Amino acid sequence: MRANPHLPDGKQFAFTIFDDPDLTSSRKIRDLYAFLWDCGFKTTKSVWTVPGNDAPEKHWGGETCGDKEYRRWLLCLQEAGFEIAYHNATYHSSTRAQTAAALEAFRCIFGSYPLSMANHFACKEGIYWGESRFEGVNRALYNLVTKRKRADYFEGHIQGSKYFWGDLCQQKIKYVRNFVFSDVNTLRACPIMPYHDPRKPYVNYWFAAANGDDVIAFKRCIQESNQDRLEREGGICILYTHFAKGFSEKGAIDSQFKALMKRLAAKNGWFVPVATLLDHLLKLNGHREITNFERANLTQKWFLDRARRELVNKGTIAQLWHLGNDAGEGLQHAQVSCWGKKGDERISGTRERMDHSEQGGRIIQESTVYRHFISESMPTRALDDIKEHS
Ligand SMILES: [Zn+2]
Repeated sequence: MRANPHLPDGKQFAFTIFDDPDLTSSRKIRDLYAFLWDCGFKTTKSVWTVPGNDAPEKHWGGETCGDKEYRRWLLCLQEAGFEIAYHNATYHSSTRAQTAAALEAFRCIFGSYPLSMANHFACKEGIYWGESRFEGVNRALYNLVTKRKRADYFEGHIQGSKYFWGDLCQQKIKYVRNFVFSDVNTLRACPIMPYHDPRKPYVNYWFAAANGDDVIAFKRCIQESNQDRLEREGGICILYTHFAKGFSEKGAIDSQFKALMKRLAAKNGWFVPVATLLDHLLKLNGHREITNFERANLTQKWFLDRARRELVNKGTIAQLWHLGNDAGEGLQHAQVSCWGKKGDERISGTRERMDHSEQGGRIIQESTVYRHFISESMPTRALDDIKEHS
């Protein structure tokens, strides 16, 4: 394959991942990150910087940097070349003062402010999020489709709100994720990224991503034909995901996911973190401001993509409920989200154990055996050498 003149080191295409911490415990994903490292992928993992003061389950929360062991593991990850990014202060809403403190804590732990971030859907300080991503008729359309569930919810960009932190975002964070598309070639879906939108001045640059929300969507996006097309087109894929959503079962990483990633790793790709990739594009293309025409075009493309995704999902996703004491230890209920028509024999999907002993249920930590993240082949430094930041 010929080299892509727009990529360094004679690489043909670029591929990276932006993994959010929703539902994450480090036990769930340590082996997965060791696998990525073994394959040669250096990707981006976003974090919640400070502990929450409410039950994580209520907000699709998970582990935060308040946990000492998790923090140590993240520092190892950073040391190994992965990017640590930001997913708001914690898994629930935070005031301006709390966000300011969380950003300082991030700098204290990881040595600098985050380069990239994605809004967590439960946080009111989400910046230009929900209906605020859109204007005019597109905003009306978004509210119609979402039944105004998130109308007037996000206030991170609204001066005077107690959740306002737009100026801090502008001063300290370079890239914020916006639209997610089905296309594996994110650059084809959004050729102008990273771009500045003068109508959203508190965000320096926006980037787009490909949809890999859970293991099913992830595998669909990097299926063999898509890998080959990404390579053929000399494209760039920023795959947005949640590695806590079905990638590992009982300590074993999904075998199909592994096979696809190994296939991808064998290609002549540039596998660097999101911010490294975006820095490269920014250097190549210079500062770009999105025009009204480009904004309208991108928004329309996103709406069409979402509509198509919804139609596909409606026909093929089945929810199965397994009743009975499924896994012992007080577990009364397990939910399995499946990809495939109801009744299909082949079932794979995200499995979350639910404990209904409390009203509303709560997600139970998987009882996998604790295994250290660092694989034998990974360069390490003694954990004791890592400075503690409390
Ligand atoms: Zn999230």
